[in-house]
Amino acid sequence: MKKLNRSNPSLDENYRIKNIATMTIDLRSDTVTKPTQGMLDAIMTAQTGDDVYKEDPSVNELERRFAETFDMETALFFPTGSMSNQAAIKLHTQPGDQLICDKWAHVYNYEAGGAAFNSGVTCNLIDGERGMITAKAIEAGISPISNYHTANTTLVCLENTTNKGGGACYDFNEFKKVRQVCDDYGLGLHLDGARLMNAIVAKNEDPKDYGKTFDSISICLSKGLGTPMGTILLGTNDLMKRSIRIRKILGGAMRQIGLMAAAGLYALDHQVDRLALDHEKAKEIARTLEGVSFVKKVEPTETNIVIFNVVDELSKDKFVNDMLLKHIKISDMGQGKLRMVTHLDYSDAMHEIVLEAINNYQF
Ligand SMILES: *Cc1c(COP(=O)(O)O)cnc(C)c1O
Repeated sequence: MKKLNRSNPSLDENYRIKNIATMTIDLRSDTVTKPTQGMLDAIMTAQTGDDVYKEDPSVNELERRFAETFDMETALFFPTGSMSNQAAIKLHTQPGDQLICDKWAHVYNYEAGGAAFNSGVTCNLIDGERGMITAKAIEAGISPISNYHTANTTLVCLENTTNKGGGACYDFNEFKKVRQVCDDYGLGLHLDGARLMNAIVAKNEDPKDYGKTFDSISICLSKGLGTPMGTILLGTNDLMKRSIRIRKILGGAMRQIGLMAAAGLYALDHQVDRLALDHEKAKEIARTLEGVSFVKKVEPTETNIVIFNVVDELSKDKFVNDMLLKHIKISDMGQGKLRMVTHLDYSDAMHEIVLEAINNYQF
């Protein structure tokens, strides 16, 4: 990987002095980023065409590049990650089927019941570790084909990195074991890789290994990669045969969307390696939180998501509000968990302010 330098500290210092009074530091999510100047230039000069006719050269190029990077046969551009995941579930299942996922999975918790609504599928939720589930637990969760009382298990959905699990990354060996279980039982294997690039950078993995292991992979461009919108769904030719039709049914067929595909191409070329900087900052935040008395627990921080609990004597609403008074936005994940996510628009100067705010916090 390329050696990365943080931004020029003297420029950063100017920024800090000029903007400290008005600046909001938004750590709620890595979706809050705005396109960089380079990305805006790429958008403004993009070649476009009608993507419904498959005539948008920028979309075609983006799909080709992702398919090549992951060594998968087919790629299709979607407006959102939820739509891409939902299309994948539809491609893999029949109404009445069951999919297996972790209890915190985005496909179950944050897609508005889409698996039931779009595909008529139920979810068998596994009680995993930080959003990750083992091949063993999956195998135990498969309903026996001979038992016609139970829903037929046809799909496993994994998430990497995990969202509610705090940006945790799987050990690749576990993926191989899950693949084996899916082969043994004839199940499809889908990866919700909304933040897959974060995992690949953090663990220095080869994207092609993912292509070899999963039947379908969904990758968001609008999270750490910093584009305004868009998600890529990758899959085998056989699985993806109906993907354009399903995208159309879900309302996701777009026209001159090469403008956004150009942003995706720019991100792929310029904004992947830098994810390591986000990870570094997240780890520094986690270490700082571990060192202060008002924090009860910090989840292990492997990528750009920090999840922590404050002590019982401090109400988490009060802490969130006190941070807001310092123009620092963080999010409440429920069940006592608070979340901070680092990203492209979180500068070194902002980082210093946040570390200071944590270290100096009194309650
Ligand atoms: C953000 C996210 C998605 C997709 O979200 P959209 O807002 O629909 O693009 C899917 N899975 C995970 C784990 C996510 O974090």
